[in-house]
Amino acid sequence: MTALPTGSATVNRVLKGQLCTGCGLCAGVSDGALTMTTEAPGYARPQGVASVSAQNEKRIAAACPGAQVAPWTTEANRHISWGPWIDCMTGYATDPTIRHGGSSGGAISALAIHALRTGLVEKVLHIAPDPDHPTRNILAWSTTAEDVLDRAGSRYAASSPLATIDAALDEGRPFALIGKPCDISALRQLAKVDPRVDRIVPLTLSFFCGGLPSHAGADRIIRSMGLQPDEVTAFRYRGNGWPGLTIADTADGRQGTMQYEHSWGGHLSKEVQFRCKICPDAVGGVADIACADAWYGGESGYPQFEEQAGRSLIMTRTDRGSAFLNDAMSKAVVEAQPLNIAEIDLMQPSQARRKRLVAARLMACRLTAQPVPRMKQLCVGEASRTAAFTESLKNMLGTIRRITTNSR
Ligand SMILES: Cc1cc2nc3c(=O)[nH]c(=O)nc-3n(C[C@H](O)[C@H](O)[C@H](O)COP(=O)(O)OP(=O)(O)OC[C@H]3O[C@@H](n4cnc5c(N)ncnc54)[C@H](O)[C@@H]3O)c2cc1C
Ligand code: SF4
Ligand code: SF4
Repeated sequence: MTALPTGSATVNRVLKGQLCTGCGLCAGVSDGALTMTTEAPGYARPQGVASVSAQNEKRIAAACPGAQVAPWTTEANRHISWGPWIDCMTGYATDPTIRHGGSSGGAISALAIHALRTGLVEKVLHIAPDPDHPTRNILAWSTTAEDVLDRAGSRYAASSPLATIDAALDEGRPFALIGKPCDISALRQLAKVDPRVDRIVPLTLSFFCGGLPSHAGADRIIRSMGLQPDEVTAFRYRGNGWPGLTIADTADGRQGTMQYEHSWGGHLSKEVQFRCKICPDAVGGVADIACADAWYGGESGYPQFEEQAGRSLIMTRTDRGSAFLNDAMSKAVVEAQPLNIAEIDLMQPSQARRKRLVAARLMACRLTAQPVPRMKQLCVGEASRTAAFTESLKNMLGTIRRITTNSR
């Protein structure tokens, strides 16, 4: 994969190190000097159109999550893997349609709808399926509960929700952002140099993120269903149940289905971009509220994926997130019970493993003279001390091999 030179030194460095998450922030604050494009094998990447002004370069350098990751600085409790937290709960949307339509228990959609209904925000910034390429995503604004519900469900493909962020801040209408942890990191960092952010975005919602696969991941799923990517007219990664099936439809009425366990484990997880493998905050640690799958642990010690009524893990990270969740619970929008934080280890073993290996993989980047994002106050060092020496060594050597053979 070759990085296109752009008019931004920060972006060029990030692309060279394969550190881009595809969040779109650089394009969104560049006054048109950068646009987002799709790059093989199917990641969202910025492309240069003109040179970036010195002022915009400063904003990109401060906020790009390929250059700098927002630190966990709130006064909340802090867990080395699960981040800062005030409330740690499991629950679900009390509206059964939202609970069923959501990816896990529909908590994110229910909270976003609550933000609209209470007038906290006028609209919600998130993503939706691309009508022209049903496995891909486009940026979407929702102003009604119906819009939010239509866009519920996890979409394991590139998303750039911040690609028009300056225009949205200029417009000045309060909105909530639903995004990947790296999208929220970018917005939090932007807030440090742009006072409009805190005024106009009173709520950020995120989710635990196992990494973003390329479009090749969804294409592999479609082919293994016996269909061709270009004949698919609708594609749902999951949701409509928990975890819900992966479903591809064609115009002539054929349908392919696959269980989540196979679509994620057998295809998508093998196509994740490099930046995700060194992600120090894939748990939405700087969002107001982060949700995840509250999988039930099985006898094997690994989560079980049998179909059942959806259940979300819900962690509030900030005072305003905690107040908002408690208001939603008091109005019976969301039902939730406290969870002992140690139980997340059983629900999310892959997240804990990646966190403890970030330091080893970063070391591999440094030893091969590759750039890495700045990562302060994210418990990367503490987490690495929970890894076995052999596990860290193996990962460091594996990452060096992938870098030197250009197979990241
Ligand atoms: C790439 C990816 C990786 C994930 N990895 C994990 C994981 O490792 N562990 C885990 O527990 N959960 C993971 N999730 C999150 C999980 O699947 C659920 O999204 C989460 O539990 C919230 O469920 P919900 O029912 O509350 O959300 P819903 O009510 O279904 O709302 C989901 C919201 O997320 C938005 N969204 C969907 N896809 C994207 C995307 N690609 N980029 C930005 N916004 C998006 C939608 O627009 C929607 O508003 C991942 C999700 C994604 C998209
Ligand atoms: S991570 Fe986001 S801000 Fe940084 S280069 Fe990629 S799209 Fe731009
Ligand atoms: S793993 Fe981290 S970098 Fe990758 S998409 Fe998720 S939050 Fe962004």
